[in-house]
Amino acid sequence: MAKKISNVINSYDIRRLILEQSYRAHVGHIGCCLSIADILVSLYDKVLKLENFSDPLRDRFVLSKGHAALALFSILFLKGMITAEQLSSFHGDNSYLGVHPEYGLPGVELATGSLGQGLSSGAGMALAAKLKKEKWRTFVLLSDAECNEGSVWEAAAFSSQHQLSNLTAIIDFNKQQGFGYTKDVISTRQLGQKWKAFGWQVDEVDGHNPTAVTKVLNSPTKNKPHLVLAHTSLGKGVSFMERLVDWHYLPLGQEQYTQALQEIEVFKNGKQS
Ligand SMILES: [Mg+2]
Repeated sequence: MAKKISNVINSYDIRRLILEQSYRAHVGHIGCCLSIADILVSLYDKVLKLENFSDPLRDRFVLSKGHAALALFSILFLKGMITAEQLSSFHGDNSYLGVHPEYGLPGVELATGSLGQGLSSGAGMALAAKLKKEKWRTFVLLSDAECNEGSVWEAAAFSSQHQLSNLTAIIDFNKQQGFGYTKDVISTRQLGQKWKAFGWQVDEVDGHNPTAVTKVLNSPTKNKPHLVLAHTSLGKGVSFMERLVDWHYLPLGQEQYTQALQEIEVFKNGKQS
């Protein structure tokens, strides 16, 4: 478990760790983690300036969809910010690594899990940097259904009002949520246009193509916050999970675990999308 490959962050290793740790702990939220795996690879390998978490000038990353914490813990391990022992304590007693991120673990800027909170805090961070004339950037990763929360739109209006061009929100646009497809709960139709109407620069990208994600995340905006609509699939890389609502919550059985590990092998060769 938790075998480290030093200084290598890729779409295979993060998936392997997500599967290993969720299977060991017998917990779900696996599909939601696989949905954002490639976005995190791009962020932590090519975008974030985050070599030292205690550096006040580091870039900030907030995982607003906190139920995908295991994906964050996996990338923090691959980045060398937490140890193999810490990662293997996931979901254990007295561990900082719970099902949602907890403040106090290196790499966690904010405890999240109550949806709709992360962007407001991220906007505050970005405003602080702007007022202090510091160059660091803030990135917030939200789920698509999180946009059901009114607080997200308050933060959107605030960020636009203050012209927070140092703030990027990424939406994991997998068209699903805990108990259904977003089209059947509260539709996300015209989501990009809604953000544009709030004064954001909006870009759409294939969220399973780290090269494309990196390019868009490193594209500066002028006087506007940046919204990246990343089209993704829940459970990406595991055939029996992809786009199925059940895999928001289900844990893996033994045969499913073995099959899933085999299927993600294709990512070893740099598979994208
Ligand atoms: Mg979703």
